[in-house]
Amino acid sequence: MAEAYGDWFSGYREDPRAYLERTFEEVAGYDEMIVLRDIEYESHCEHHMAPIIGRVHVGYLPDGKVVGISKLARVVETYARRFHKVQEKMTAQIAQCIQEVLHPLGVGVVVEGVHECMTTRGIHKRGVSMVTSKMLGSFREDARTRAEFLRFIESGRR
Ligand SMILES: [Zn+2]
Repeated sequence: MAEAYGDWFSGYREDPRAYLERTFEEVAGYDEMIVLRDIEYESHCEHHMAPIIGRVHVGYLPDGKVVGISKLARVVETYARRFHKVQEKMTAQIAQCIQEVLHPLGVGVVVEGVHECMTTRGIHKRGVSMVTSKMLGSFREDARTRAEFLRFIESGRR
């Protein structure tokens, strides 16, 4: 049990910012949106310590530098492996971390989560997932950028 808990909450031992510090500037002038979608995660709500299982989609518009794509998944994983009072907070933290460390022109984060504290107890509603989003910079200010990001996510629907 101690090992399982150590694994589920290992995010407290990691610094998500560190994953974004190593960047690549040789991008051959690439200045279009980069999207990593369907990043699976497992988290826990602070209120019930019940699992939250879902997917995160992250997009950003680089300003001259990019990160290795697995690093975005690492950032998601680090935040997921912490307690969350609300899914909105995890969503905002992921977006802010990318914005503050990578300084892109914009960031978009969409989080989908199935909260077991709602599906297996209380109101017992299965098949319900919560969707939250946080848009910063051009993703917030430019409707076309935001639409492009959402289209990228949609095109991955199975
Ligand atoms: Zn809960």
